[in-house]
Amino acid sequence: MDNVRLGKTNLEVNKIGFGALPIQRRNMEDSIEILHKAYESGVDFYDTARFYTDSEEKLGKAFEDVRSEIYLASKTAAETPEDFWHDLETTLKELKTDYLDLYQHHNISFCPKKDDDLAKAMIQAKEDGMIKHIGITTHKITFAHEAIESGLYETLQYPFSYLSGAEELELVEKCKSHDMGFIAMKAMGGGLLNDSKAGFAFMNQFDPSDLGLDDELQKIIENDKKELGDNFCRGCAYCMPCPEEINISLCARMSLWIRRFPTEPYLTEEYQEIVNATKNCTECYSCVDKCPYELDIPELLKENYEDYMNVLEGRTKI
Ligand code: SF4
Ligand code: SF4
Repeated sequence: MDNVRLGKTNLEVNKIGFGALPIQRRNMEDSIEILHKAYESGVDFYDTARFYTDSEEKLGKAFEDVRSEIYLASKTAAETPEDFWHDLETTLKELKTDYLDLYQHHNISFCPKKDDDLAKAMIQAKEDGMIKHIGITTHKITFAHEAIESGLYETLQYPFSYLSGAEELELVEKCKSHDMGFIAMKAMGGGLLNDSKAGFAFMNQFDPSDLGLDDELQKIIENDKKELGDNFCRGCAYCMPCPEEINISLCARMSLWIRRFPTEPYLTEEYQEIVNATKNCTECYSCVDKCPYELDIPELLKENYEDYMNVLEGRTKI
């Protein structure tokens, strides 16, 4: 697999990294098997987070014996130095290591700069050898620009896929000009894009090797852009929990799920119950404040509910 230099970190990592959020949904045994398979296939960059429940523990168990052969990145959502140190110590313990190759602020409510206490803790951790490099992840374009301009960060992780537009492309170029590594978050649109060849060819334009964007792949990308646009839920779950216990990240994407994947499994009583719960939405809008894409969630839930019922009751054929 081709390597790429991750900006000023000077780490030479595989172009395809392993995002370790989804292994939360698999048991320990399956997760270790998946991770070993990735490792045997040549993947050497693994990105997890304190926030991803038992993901760090699974990585720690899977890679204890080959630690020096891989790169481990994790993230903290801490907003105070106290929470920062607590997170870092827990992460190192869970990952069974005494250093991280990359540690990132995780989608926090501000962009720490060199003089902030939180950034000072990050810098101290680097000086102490607990972390090798400093990064940040965000879903907000303004924070992303602030982060690049701050001079503090060696990498930026930001949502990026073939649905991305001019603003995101500008970010990639800006990272390049500041010699920062750019890590594509949700490269498959949070699970909604299902053509991995098109996904990889799109990414490869920025550091080409053998898989180019031919006319056929370009057509897949154009169709997906048309169908999904900007106004779609990426399933990040930052808006949750909902006080009415609505499964927003699933229900706000139901119309897409039933079209982009086999429909029948989503029409069972179990799913009907989950979708029906959206009727309990009180339109309190507390979720909207937390959505990095500023989606009108109550409206999206209504649209998805109506569409789902139309499909379920046979008024819409898909
Ligand atoms: S607006 Fe609806 S979905 Fe959002 S938090 Fe309130 S009740 Fe839940
Ligand atoms: S509604 Fe927004 S915050 Fe919630 S899961 Fe979807 S994209 Fe994420």
